[in-house]
Amino acid sequence: MSAQEYFDQGELVAVLTTQPLDRTLDYKAPEGGCFLGAFVEVPLGPRKVLGVVWGPGQGGFDLSKARSVIRVLEVAPMREEMRVFLGKVADYTLTPMPAMLRLATRAPGLGDPPSMRKIYRLGEAQPDRMTDARTRVLEVLRDYGGLAFTLKELAEQAGVTSSVIKGLVKQGAVREEDSPRDLPYPHLDPNLPGKELTDDQAAAVARLQAGQRTGDYGTTLLKGVTGSGKTEVYLEAVAEALRMGRQALVLLPEIALTAEFLTRVEARFGARPAEWHSGATMTERRRVWRMVGQGDAQLVVGARSALFLPFRDLGLVVVDEEHDTSYKQEDGVHYSARDMAVLRSAICGARVILASATPSLESWANAEAGKYERVDLTSRFGAAVLPEMKPIDMRAEQMQPGTWISPSLRQAVRQRIERSEQSLLFINRRGYAPVTLCRACGEQIACDHCDARMVEHRFLKRLMCHQCGETKPMPEACPSCGVEGKLAPVGPGIERLAEEAEATFPEAKIAMLSSDLFGSARALKAKIEEIAEGDADIIIGTQLVAKGHNFPKLTLVGVIDADLSLHGADLRAAERTFQLMRQVAGRAGRADKPGQALLQTFQPEHPVIRAILSGDEEGFWKAEAAGRQAAGVPPYGRMAGIVLSGPEVGPVFDLGNAMARNDAPLREVGAQVFGPAPAPIARIRGRHRVRLLVKAPKGAPIQDAIARWIAPLRLKGDLRLTVDIDPQNFY
Ligand code: ADP
Ligand code: ZN
Repeated sequence: MSAQEYFDQGELVAVLTTQPLDRTLDYKAPEGGCFLGAFVEVPLGPRKVLGVVWGPGQGGFDLSKARSVIRVLEVAPMREEMRVFLGKVADYTLTPMPAMLRLATRAPGLGDPPSMRKIYRLGEAQPDRMTDARTRVLEVLRDYGGLAFTLKELAEQAGVTSSVIKGLVKQGAVREEDSPRDLPYPHLDPNLPGKELTDDQAAAVARLQAGQRTGDYGTTLLKGVTGSGKTEVYLEAVAEALRMGRQALVLLPEIALTAEFLTRVEARFGARPAEWHSGATMTERRRVWRMVGQGDAQLVVGARSALFLPFRDLGLVVVDEEHDTSYKQEDGVHYSARDMAVLRSAICGARVILASATPSLESWANAEAGKYERVDLTSRFGAAVLPEMKPIDMRAEQMQPGTWISPSLRQAVRQRIERSEQSLLFINRRGYAPVTLCRACGEQIACDHCDARMVEHRFLKRLMCHQCGETKPMPEACPSCGVEGKLAPVGPGIERLAEEAEATFPEAKIAMLSSDLFGSARALKAKIEEIAEGDADIIIGTQLVAKGHNFPKLTLVGVIDADLSLHGADLRAAERTFQLMRQVAGRAGRADKPGQALLQTFQPEHPVIRAILSGDEEGFWKAEAAGRQAAGVPPYGRMAGIVLSGPEVGPVFDLGNAMARNDAPLREVGAQVFGPAPAPIARIRGRHRVRLLVKAPKGAPIQDAIARWIAPLRLKGDLRLTVDIDPQNFY
């Protein structure tokens, strides 16, 4: 064992903690010594905090004052490649290391010893009497199906004291059991027979597996129309990773997807993988974290932060629906899970598969440039063919005021109802109506804390701000002029469209799918499964339905407003519209019946609408790439967004102006700064927001320049500054 990897008792070690300090702290190694990378508990003032042994101590102070590491946790030490990875992500995203360590240790109770503990699940008996608190406990247990909780978790989830739960245990309504902590995951068998692949699919698998066998890093863009079998193909790459004794990670954008996906994994490998997402219980998270670290979880299926799990030997990362914007985290650490997956894999010698029917322009360009391999699946599996796509020219349709389903679309839906097939009406807007207008004075009801209009949600019987989540009841009288009975909804949201559909097709069974209509992820999953089995004639959905779910009986997709996202100030507006429309259209005709997609548009000649309809994807990307290249914007140039915010607008602008004046570090690397300007949403949660935009040529070291630019700033009072490298949103 070399000296750098192990520290004897009393030797000085540098410990990185999760506390917001700008440096490591020195401690004496504890009794028994410790390894580099060990997870430790250290004293900080009066507290004990979590940390990782990061290297030899810095020294330079009175050693007799050094405190000792309290204890070494019983978990696998952080591997060198993970330390390198966290450091590189910190440098790339300009994030302090303690925040990176928090991201990499998002599992409570890491320090708890492996032992038995009490867990709680739903019992058989009914309690003698119900109270609100008791109802909440039972609801939480029912909501999570068969899952068990620790006492603390259950009390927290239900918002009750532990005595409420103990009371229910006495009555047999809740069961108390002993359970070992943190069991390994069941073994996945890569050698169970998979599906018989088509020639196209088999060729794709052969190329992916050949890459894997090199044992070196490499990224492949797996492009294939929806239903072409991308999932089948990358599951064979997962099988290969498992056969090589390495771990695999599949990232998915939306937890709604995982129910179907987990079943497919189970069918292929004979057991369920580890799951990592925000809906997982604390117990489950800790189990995943530990088992991944000791190699007892072969495959993890998870949301973006699963990328920061302590894999022992990560051999493959699949980023499914790689174009999805939810891979970009936009609070705390601003990182793109897709890009960081490539970074992590390059460090640990893993393969990356970016799968999509409509890749991001970034990935497309990387494949064009030869940085990524590209594998295409060109046809749908089996009899399924791509849907026919047609515009409905809204200028020629006779529309009643306050309605959004055109006569042409109406007729197409009727046909499907007659044939017992499903239709999907797509509108990318939650709630009932995006605007509530006073017909007496013209006032639009706005959020008190944000520069945003309140959205009516009839289902919740409230107005809601989509920026801060604040809700309030719909007022009787206009808050501005006081006139009663004049408040009217303007424009459609999913709930209003459902109302129109119910009135138009009274005989049809209608299901609404929007992320906010379900109390829990589990309820949403259950609903999606019901619909897939045919329990709806018309599905009314938001963006949620665009994400990779199979609805075999669906043969018609009607896009209510194909123009909606065309007009953002966003540089990716065209790309996003193109992806979204093609994804949504791809929901139709997945099984044996041909599908059709109808796009309601006022601009059938718009180049993006025409590209969508023609299906000339390469043409669209080439044109889009040329446009971005000419403008010097990503992926052909670099950008960073700076958002300044504070309770008073004056000081926020003063800071922005000072930054714009002192831009020497940026100019040195050829970068330019634009702004300050009020952000598109100029106030959120009572804080005024001002944006600066940094633009630089590709290859310019902007992180370093930005770090030097902001280092001298002293943020006074309640001013805040966030840096977003490669911003995806400009709100
Ligand atoms: P994608 O991920 O490209 O949307 P999937 O892998 O989900 O495509 O495949 C679409 C459907 O076709 C799924 O139900 C899948 O099980 C089925 N499928 C694809 N390839 C095969 C195959 N070779 N044998 C049997 N079924 C297949
Ligand atoms: Zn608000």
